[in-house]
Amino acid sequence: MTTEFDRTQAVTDSMPMDAFTREFFDDLYISETTGDAPDDLRQHVAAMVNAAERDTAEMRLTKPIVTLFAELQRIVHEQNCTPEQLGVTRESLEELARRHTRIDEHGVTVGGRVGKALPIVRKAQSRITDYLERHVHEAPSGIEVWDRIMANQARIKKTLGMSDVDWDSYSGQLRHAVETVDVLASVVDLPAEAVEEVRRVTRNYRMRLTPYYASLILSGRGNDPVLLQAVPTAEMVDNAGVEIPPVAADHSPARLIDQFYPRVATIKATNMCAMYCTHCLRIAHIGAKDRIYGKEAYGEALDYIRANPEIRDVLVTGGDALVLPNATLQWLLGELDGIEHVRVKRLGTRIPVTTPQRVDNELLDILEASNDHKPLRVVTQINTAQEITPVSKAAFKAISRRVAAVMNQAVLLKGINDTKVKMWKLCETIQEAYVRPYYVFNCSYRNPQFSHLRVPVAVGQEIVESMYGNISGDAIPRYIATAGGKIPLHRTNLLGRKDGNLRMQKPWSEERVMYPDADPREYGRKDFGFARHAVETEE
Ligand SMILES: *Cc1c(COP(=O)(O)O)cnc(C)c1O
Ligand code: SF4
Repeated sequence: MTTEFDRTQAVTDSMPMDAFTREFFDDLYISETTGDAPDDLRQHVAAMVNAAERDTAEMRLTKPIVTLFAELQRIVHEQNCTPEQLGVTRESLEELARRHTRIDEHGVTVGGRVGKALPIVRKAQSRITDYLERHVHEAPSGIEVWDRIMANQARIKKTLGMSDVDWDSYSGQLRHAVETVDVLASVVDLPAEAVEEVRRVTRNYRMRLTPYYASLILSGRGNDPVLLQAVPTAEMVDNAGVEIPPVAADHSPARLIDQFYPRVATIKATNMCAMYCTHCLRIAHIGAKDRIYGKEAYGEALDYIRANPEIRDVLVTGGDALVLPNATLQWLLGELDGIEHVRVKRLGTRIPVTTPQRVDNELLDILEASNDHKPLRVVTQINTAQEITPVSKAAFKAISRRVAAVMNQAVLLKGINDTKVKMWKLCETIQEAYVRPYYVFNCSYRNPQFSHLRVPVAVGQEIVESMYGNISGDAIPRYIATAGGKIPLHRTNLLGRKDGNLRMQKPWSEERVMYPDADPREYGRKDFGFARHAVETEE
């Protein structure tokens, strides 16, 4: 079959050059110097011309032509000379430029490619060089420092007397969870003063981290971002002054239920987590004492959902939804799937980050079965690239194959992820770990316990805006303040309006563009599309 239209036929030898290429040639012939350029340069150019002529004729490659023109441009500017002085005629250059356009599938010209596109890409690259230089040192992923984490694991296993079977199982991780300062001090390198401080604070605050999560803490860094998330510090007691009612105390229309929105409800299905975060929004509900909820509590929550047919999306959270035993989880998901108006479900969990050993085939089968009924998404919380290890990545990969989506809700936290480098690294790393960046929350004002971890709203705006144009669009989270519902915090890029045009600012450069808006009169027209064709009506 040779039905493909050979569009290169359309570009004939007599075809005039496009504006980009004319501009490019004008720039090449700017010099007024006479006399020959140095021999070595003339030879260098002659070799490139030969290569271009040979390879375009034989192999139909564009690269030798691109190289020739890019080099020529560099040399004539450097030497202040013309192509003639370098031994190449204008006629042969024009012929090569036309040949480039003929070969290229999209008819891209030399002026467009060498004169415009390459400089634009080079300029764009300058926006990320700083990140590329700094990220491994400033925000290493758990994959990049896996050797150090493995050394920590070996040491912690030995100290806690854990077998490999213990380490690799959820029950082993929980049985050996670090809950006291003395155990903590035996597995994490802490200054003596810090140990005493944690001792004091843990009289008020529950501490629990799994040995696996503890192994992610890198010693030699005062405020290691994993340590800061897991181990309470003095501020948590010293800050605690004015008590603000626990979040959602005023948003719970039924037992275990929180509801801000008409179509989305959450079930707080447990108050337990495998690791207790120092920045937990639900710090008032969780942690104090592990509680198993009875079926009558779940029953009342499900009855509320059944009685409110506008609820279509149910988020099972906690605590941590995956702390629930498999049988409970399976039952709860089954009940939700059985409610006609519930169309999609979510599970909120940090387990794949804090205790990936929980993710086994039995659990995955339960998730897949429910997802087969109605889409199930898993919403997690990863705050640093350091929390993505080969083990947590494998867990996320396995989950992502069984559910509709795995999404991340990060919390913007001081010293943890509050720089451009750290947040970009987090978003890129989780995307590589099969997780979609979804939200980044400004840390809530409600809990004085963690006001020392808060970051100003504007700092987060700078960070999130800096991602546009620089990393993949689907690795950019939405920036949110939680204040009785989620309020987006992105800065607007619309500067103004003039004569039906909108003035916009590109978030990644100083450049502003005028964007013609849809014509309101055109938009107001009812007689468009098929409606233009008269319909016979009976009067
Ligand atoms: C976060 C949250 C939701 C879900 O919000 P989305 O914007 O749909 O992700 C629903 N209910 C409550 C109480 C929440 O806190
Ligand atoms: S996992 Fe979630 S609910 Fe549990 S302590 Fe951390 S932030 Fe709180």
